[in-house]
Amino acid sequence: MLVRNVDVGGERVDVRIKDGLIEALSDHLPALDHERVVEGKGGALLPGLHDHHIHLNATAAALQSVHCGPTEVEDEQQLIAALHRNPGGDWLRGIGYHPSVAGEIDRDWLDKYGPDRPVRIQHRSGRMWIFNSRAIAVLDANIPDDGRLVDGDVLVRQALGSQRPDLGQLIKKLLSFGITGVTEVTPGNDRLDLEHYLRAARPLRLSIMGGEDLHAVDGRHAANIGPLKIHNHDHDLPPLSALTDSIKKAHAHGRAVAVHCVTRAELMLSLAAIQDAGPSHGDRIEHAAIADAAAIEWIKRLDLTVVTQPHFVAERGAAYLRDVDRDDLPYLWPLKSFLDAGIRLAAGSDAPFGDCNPWKAMASAATRPEGLEPHEAVTAEQALALYIKPVEDAGGEARIIEKGATADLCLLDRSWSDARNVLAEVSVRATWISGEMVYDSISSTRPQSSAV
Ligand SMILES: [Zn+2]
Repeated sequence: MLVRNVDVGGERVDVRIKDGLIEALSDHLPALDHERVVEGKGGALLPGLHDHHIHLNATAAALQSVHCGPTEVEDEQQLIAALHRNPGGDWLRGIGYHPSVAGEIDRDWLDKYGPDRPVRIQHRSGRMWIFNSRAIAVLDANIPDDGRLVDGDVLVRQALGSQRPDLGQLIKKLLSFGITGVTEVTPGNDRLDLEHYLRAARPLRLSIMGGEDLHAVDGRHAANIGPLKIHNHDHDLPPLSALTDSIKKAHAHGRAVAVHCVTRAELMLSLAAIQDAGPSHGDRIEHAAIADAAAIEWIKRLDLTVVTQPHFVAERGAAYLRDVDRDDLPYLWPLKSFLDAGIRLAAGSDAPFGDCNPWKAMASAATRPEGLEPHEAVTAEQALALYIKPVEDAGGEARIIEKGATADLCLLDRSWSDARNVLAEVSVRATWISGEMVYDSISSTRPQSSAV
């Protein structure tokens, strides 16, 4: 395939894709017989984007769920309306609930105001489900009397049966953003999940984190296995020695670790444990939502990779300004500080907890909202770089368009110089994975007449 007239690094060029690679790149390439030609219209041709932190099953389920929190739902009346909008007898799954909407709702609240069907609503943190009485009756599981179940994902999954959602709609959406690969980071991922993702998330490139069950996966799927995901919580932190041991064990199996760190305490404990275990290439800190200068210096000393969510300051800005400890606000979601310190940095959506549109996230990285450390903004190029790191190495160098590179690509509707100041408005015209056009909104493609 020949992609004509595209913007690569500010130059107008033609690009030939063959056998999954960029075979040639030059200011003019004549079309070969039988070659498909795509007119790029001067749009930027970029490396395919990679979402370095996503929960696929939960995001697919969220596409079929009712949004129960800001900004879709702001108060109690809106929540009640949202819960009754789509009548039906089967499960209603709500997501994104925040107490700013109607306080700490429980089983009684849902019974009184919700619809007459099994209802379960997830708190925005992702860590609590709230059930109504009909749901509790159906589930036949050990749900607390008030219907509020904390950290009960495994229990819910067992009770509901282990059906995994169809990922088709989500994958199409990701491809349409120019995403060519994702890192699936759900801590509970086991071998069955691995098989499910490999089957259901095609054609995306995949790196799959998960639990210790994935330590011993070998053979043809070994390349898809990502770090051990470690998910600690402030209210229930493990002893340092236990954490250190699980890190050592993962390293002994040739796996890096990826540790969820949202609070100061989680980050400090995780850094101490990685230091004790001895850091290994590819070890990651997920989120690093609060990191002061000392923490950043420590992360640098251990040469860890940070995977951040630049869009959270835009999506949750008002709630942060209200809820986050004043002393922590200056260190909330650093971005430029990480780059200035030379930290290996990549980004991911954390969907369904954040929007899975990487262009909105890049826009937010380049323009921080008022009151949330605007000096942490980065350039559009630095924002893009966070989404084009190698699939298997979020801390590596950003991929580039060059001869011989794997043809994982996306073509924008405008040149990079036109895109860089309006990243949220960018739309993707085509996406390629391994040279296959996997998303195509270009109608003007045609076979070469000379070839027929
Ligand atoms: Zn996550």
